[in-house]
Amino acid sequence: MTYKMTPEYQKVLTEMIGECWHENTIHIASGYRCLECGEVFLFKERIEKCNRRSFQTDSDMMKVFRWLVDNGKWLTFKNYTAQRIFISDSPIIFESATFDDHIYSWLFYDAERFNCLVAQCKMEGGV
Ligand SMILES: [Zn+2]
Repeated sequence: MTYKMTPEYQKVLTEMIGECWHENTIHIASGYRCLECGEVFLFKERIEKCNRRSFQTDSDMMKVFRWLVDNGKWLTFKNYTAQRIFISDSPIIFESATFDDHIYSWLFYDAERFNCLVAQCKMEGGV
């Protein structure tokens, strides 16, 4: 299974962690004002690249991780991930480490994959 970040996932994650997606703007003298949060941007076309999280960085992964912990959703997400791994085409082979060790090392190794899984879990009503 591949995990590719999409604008749909980015929007779900942005709103989940309580940040603004800046979807609707109006043109004002000094640029564009977001109708949701009021933030002003000089160039509308740069909002996507400069004012939204990519959710492909370790920093964004940790922001999502802390949101899961702070909102009591970590265990639910971890169990969701465990289910996904076991039903995938390439299940993890356990040797000597504990189940949790495998989950954590697999999850935190790839920020984009981590955040895609959280978005999918959120969209399926899991967190
Ligand atoms: Zn906004």
